[in-house]
Order: sequence, then structure tokens, then C-alpha cells
Amino acid sequence: MNPPAILLPGATLGVMGGGQLGRMFVHAAQRMGYFTAVLDPDAQSPAGRVSHHHLHGEYLETRHLAELARIADAITTEFENVPAAALEQLAVHRPVAPGGEAVAIAQDRIREKAHFTRCGVACAPHAVIETDEHLALVADSLLPGILKTARLGYDGKGQLRVATREALVQAWNDLGRVPCVLEQMLPLAAECSVVVARGADGRMVHLPPQRNLHRDGILAVTEVFDGVLPDAAAAQAVASTQAIAEGLGYVGVLCVEFFVLQDGSLVVNEMAPRPHNSGHWSLDACDVSQFELQVRTLAGLPLAVPRQHSPAIMLNLLGDLWRGGSTPAEPDWTSILALPGMHLHLYGKTDARVGRKMGHLTVTGPTAAAVRERALKACEVLGIQPFVSA
Ligand code: ATP
Ligand code: MG
Repeated sequence: MNPPAILLPGATLGVMGGGQLGRMFVHAAQRMGYFTAVLDPDAQSPAGRVSHHHLHGEYLETRHLAELARIADAITTEFENVPAAALEQLAVHRPVAPGGEAVAIAQDRIREKAHFTRCGVACAPHAVIETDEHLALVADSLLPGILKTARLGYDGKGQLRVATREALVQAWNDLGRVPCVLEQMLPLAAECSVVVARGADGRMVHLPPQRNLHRDGILAVTEVFDGVLPDAAAAQAVASTQAIAEGLGYVGVLCVEFFVLQDGSLVVNEMAPRPHNSGHWSLDACDVSQFELQVRTLAGLPLAVPRQHSPAIMLNLLGDLWRGGSTPAEPDWTSILALPGMHLHLYGKTDARVGRKMGHLTVTGPTAAAVRERALKACEVLGIQPFVSA
């Protein structure tokens, strides 16, 4: 269906997926007076537990999709691995943003890289590997590299680092010989990302570029303040993100991740057709968060330019923090909350597994230096490895 004229507060907004991103979308929608509906198979899902309606069911089951389309006036998604076919089925009845085609491209590294190239945005040198012939034809210049499954990877899962041809052959076998991309290992100076929101009328607004630090393939720290990235790289990242969204005819919130190389050049890594972990800081340090932007794009509301009102650092809170001693224990939130400028977000997950995203902490303050000092103090209290800042 065509995008809605405008869905005013009082309407019901639906979301495919019940994880933390869905939960923060639901919070933003409810704050603005919308009703919400979540489709997720897990009865205890973080978003399902706070939504007005929670449909427990598989994403492709026709009866659940029909029910969601009946309850919700428009539908969005909180993760890219929702079957594009489900979004297309919903779109027969209701406005859906982002559209199934954009999500299908973001699900598949091969299609994603082709899209980036079409938009004139440089990717890492890479090769597509789908057959033994492709494997044999890989250029030596791509090694050492990282072999990534084309689909279903996240938080560094579905990736193996390879230094030699033998290791590459072994790695492709280990990944189950599914379609993959081999990327040259690049010398990174920094990583960054940009969150853009695009309305059905083509208007775009964006959050300031974010500097990201990953550990073991998982986002650990995001820093956002003036000077955190070289100006030229930051400007190029924004322009590239806009070109990528434009090229998709995108409606909704899109995040694009980039590598800043040691020679200062910028290379795109991947995109997420939804709000992103690296944009969570906007809940506490911006007047319009990435989740409110998702609500606005879905409801067809005007997109105001977000203004960052405080320097910010976000620390991810992984399940590891609950496992510091011999028995699982809750981190010391009392000491954290005694510090100034702490904004604690927990997603309501009960099982604190190693590497699982349980929550995040946004740190704000009057200056970048003050925020960095506070964030390092929080790392010390929580037992998070201190980060090396810009
Ligand atoms: P996400 O959870 O963001 O979806 P993912 O599992 O899709 O992660 P990538 O973003 O592809 O994984 O890679 C994870 C991290 O590994 C990157 O943020 C970066 O730190 C490192 N990395 C990935 N590709 C390269 C590369 N070609 N050269 C150097 N480092 C890389
Ligand atoms: Mg990534």
C-alpha cells in the first residue's frame, strides 16, 4: 500500500520482532500516544512485555500476519532477518516501512555490497564465494581477510578470519559452504556509523556521525561529540548514507556503518534497515531519538532535525557483567546511579549469557572531557575494559 497520509496519535503501530530495538520503539510510540502491537514468537520478548498487543507466533505464519495487519494501522521492523516475504504480505493490507525490498537487500551482504557500489560508495575489496570455482579464483590480494556468511550474521557471528588459502578453504567448509563474501582485512583507524531517517516525501534528517569501538565483533562503546571523528570522514559518511537511503527509495530509519582507514579514506561496511545500537545514545542526548524518528517515518509525521544537546558516550552492558564472580550477580547499579550523567537502560532479559546485549548506559555531561571521565569511572565500577578515546 502507499504510505499513509498521516497516522495521528491514537492509531496503532505494529513492529515485527520483540527484541530491545522493538522495546525502545514501543516506548517512543507510547510516549507519543500511540497504541502498539508486537509480533514475536517469544512470550517473554523485551518488546512484547511492554506492548499493548503481543502476538506470539512465527514471522511467516499467515494467521499471525493477518492478525497484525488487522490490529495495526502501519507496520515496521526491528531486525533485518524478518522474512522479506512477511513484509510483502503485510504490505498488501497496510503501510509497511521500510519496504520488503530494502530489507531483502540489507539481509544479504552480496546484494548489499552491489547496492553500495551502485550508489558510488566504496566497499572493502572483496569476492563473492558461492562455489569451489569462486574459491579457487580468489585473488591473493584479499588475504589476509575475513570470510563472512552472506546472510544471518550479527555481532561477529558467521565470520572467520583467514590468513592463507588453506585457512580460507577450511573456513568456507566450517561455515557450511553457504554463500559468503571474503573481504580484505583493512587497516582501520576508526569505525563510525550514521543514522538517517527518510520520509515518504524523500525528506531526510540524520543524527551526528558516531564513533564506534567493537570488541570481539560486538559493539562496545559509541562516542558522539564534536571532533570525535575527522571532519572530512564525518561529512563523507553522512553524504554516503544519504546516497544509500536515496538509492533504496527508503522510508524509515537506516543506519550505515563505515570503516575509517589509516590513510583517512572511508569505506562502507554494512547497513541496518532499522534503528541501531550505535544510535541508542540519542535517547538521552538528543531532542529527537532514533526511535522517535522511526515512529515519525512510520506515521508520516514531519521529520524535525535532531539536535544533540549533550556530548555522549554509550557503553553496552553485555551478559558478561553479570558473571564477574563464581555465581551470577547483578552489577552494582547503585554505585553507577550515584555518578552524575548516567542513563541506565535495561531490556528486561532474564538470562545473562556471555556476549548477550542486556542493556546500555548512556553517559552525558557538560563537556566531552567530563563525559569521558564519567564513562571511564563507570567502566571501573562495572568491570568493563576501559576504552581508548579519540
Ligand atoms: P553487526 O552486529 O554490526 O551486524 P556483523 O556480525 O555483521 O556485526 P561486521 O560489521 O561485518 O559484523 O564486522 C564486525 C567487526 O569486525 C567490524 O565492526 C570490525 O571491527 C571488524 N571487521 C569487519 N570487517 C572488517 C574488515 N574488512 N577489515 C577489518 N576489520 C573488519
Ligand atoms: Mg557490523
